[in-house]
Amino acid sequence: MSEQIDVVKLTQDLVRMPSESQQSNAGISIFLATLLERIGFDVEHLSYRDANGVEKVSLVAKKGEGSGGLCLFSHSDTVPGGAGWDPLDPQLTDGRLYGRGSCDMKGPLAATIAAAARVDAADLRHPLFIAITADEEQGYGGARQILAESQIFQGGWPQYGVVAEPTQLIPVYAHKGGARIAVTAHGVAAHTSTDKGISANFLIAPFLAEMAELAGRFRSDEYFMNPEFDPPTNGFNLTIDDGGTKANVTAARTVAVVGLRSMPGAHYEEAIQLVIDRARAHNLEVDYYTLDPFATPPDSPIVRLACQASGVDHAVTVPFGTEAILYKEYMQTVVLGPGNIDQAHTLGEWIDVAQLRQSVEVYAEMIAEVCGDR
Ligand SMILES: [Zn+2]
Repeated sequence: MSEQIDVVKLTQDLVRMPSESQQSNAGISIFLATLLERIGFDVEHLSYRDANGVEKVSLVAKKGEGSGGLCLFSHSDTVPGGAGWDPLDPQLTDGRLYGRGSCDMKGPLAATIAAAARVDAADLRHPLFIAITADEEQGYGGARQILAESQIFQGGWPQYGVVAEPTQLIPVYAHKGGARIAVTAHGVAAHTSTDKGISANFLIAPFLAEMAELAGRFRSDEYFMNPEFDPPTNGFNLTIDDGGTKANVTAARTVAVVGLRSMPGAHYEEAIQLVIDRARAHNLEVDYYTLDPFATPPDSPIVRLACQASGVDHAVTVPFGTEAILYKEYMQTVVLGPGNIDQAHTLGEWIDVAQLRQSVEVYAEMIAEVCGDR
């Protein structure tokens, strides 16, 4: 049976449930699982304990039989609420819904559920999936777990995925990934009056000078750019930490963290390797991880369908990252959701209510198109 769910009321209910990434999201997950079951989904709970021993729960839900189908992806965690407002008290004012997670991404999550509630399992030719992950804001642990362990997914992967992160309802076919390279110099701490110390800062300084040079190159050399993105550059950045060493002591340990945002077609692997090679040439310790960028061909069926459903001429790229980076390995994926990413993680976060309601129609059309009424 199908059901009408008011997307604004559901968003308000979700905002009231605290689910900051550093705390457990078990409570909101139980609420969401109960709701998904009520609207006809089989629901699978997957959980793990994070590095601090906190339980994290992700849900994979499926409605309808058959192969392929469409999965709508969201996450239930949020960044911390912050001071100076009441982040868990959703307020409706002037066409905006305020509250932590209203935009990133309890509003979009509510919209996927409201759209999914409308369809009757018996009318689906291909299954409809909803996946709601934990820890999107810190390391994608929930997404990794559902991809590795979900029995529902392993019983038959969806053909298409929509990551419902806020894009102002403009389909996104590609976004940047990232790399974080930690470079450490080890010195010897001693009071400068003894002259027995070895400053880790002096050891790392030649490497830092080379990074400053690279920064200039990445901003001017088109080889490392992609004009499909705004900005077309890789966001190369460097931070330095010597543990707050006092001026009369030599630094025992200095860590430089180099970050960049990877783009398809911009030789990011080479850029990362340049940094690593320079660090090793100076005998510095190197530790790094990378996330590949997300890219679906702009003329792929799911991107074209997303454009058609949202009434947009063509899909775009964005500079921020989403879990689409992981899902793209398993299905053709597009990023499409209501709300403006500029609101994400801000104090006084809000979402445009009209766009939130419109997104329910957009998702409903995509469901009908992929999963098909009989
Ligand atoms: Zn998000």
